[in-house]
Amino acid sequence: MTTIGVLGLQGAVREHVRSIEACGAQAVVIKKAEQLKQVDGLIMPGGESTTMRRLIDLYGFMEPMRTFAQAGKPMFGTCAGLILLAKDLVGYDEPHLGVMDVLVERNSFGRQKESFEANLDVTGLAEPYNAVFIRAPHIVSAGPSTQVLAMHNDRIVLARDGQFLGCSFHPELTEDHRLTKYFVEMVESAPVSV
Ligand code: GLN
Repeated sequence: MTTIGVLGLQGAVREHVRSIEACGAQAVVIKKAEQLKQVDGLIMPGGESTTMRRLIDLYGFMEPMRTFAQAGKPMFGTCAGLILLAKDLVGYDEPHLGVMDVLVERNSFGRQKESFEANLDVTGLAEPYNAVFIRAPHIVSAGPSTQVLAMHNDRIVLARDGQFLGCSFHPELTEDHRLTKYFVEMVESAPVSV
C-alpha cells in the first residue's frame, strides 16, 4: 500500500492523516528523521513556518528531507509547508528547503482577512474546490517547470513543480479529499528509486 508521511513537528497533522486514510493510503506521522525512509511521499502541514523551521533544525530534519527530495519522492507543502518548500521567499535571503521553483510571500492576504474561504477552479478537477485560507502565503511567481493549478484574485494559490505540489490553503480541513487524492496519485505514479 502507498505510504505517506505527515511531518509531525507542528501544525495540522492529524487532519492530514485522516484525509490520507480517506483516500485509501496509509499515513505515518513523522516525528523522527529516520522515519522518512518508511514513506513514499511527504506532506508538510500548515502551522507556523518559523516554528517548524526551528524544530526541523533542532531535530536534524534538514539533510534527511533534502535527501528525500533528491531521491525524487513527492512532497506536498500546504500553507506553512509551501513556505518550507519554496526556492525563494519575499524578504528572506535564504529559503528553507528551497526545492520548489516558486517565489512565495508570507501572510499575503492582509490582516483584516486573516482567514477566509473561496471557491477555486482547479486544473484537473471537474467541480470547484472550496479552499480554507488561514494567514495564507501566496505564490508570487513560478519558474518555467512549474504548472499553475489554481488562482485566487489573480494570485497563484496552487502549483506543481514535478514531484513538488504546493498550496496556500488548508486542504485537510474540509471533507473534500480531492487534492489529497491528487497527491496520493502523484506518489503512486512516481518512479521508484530502490
Ligand atoms: N502564516 C504562517 C507562516 O508564515 C502560515 C499559516 C498557515 O500555515 N496556516 O508560516
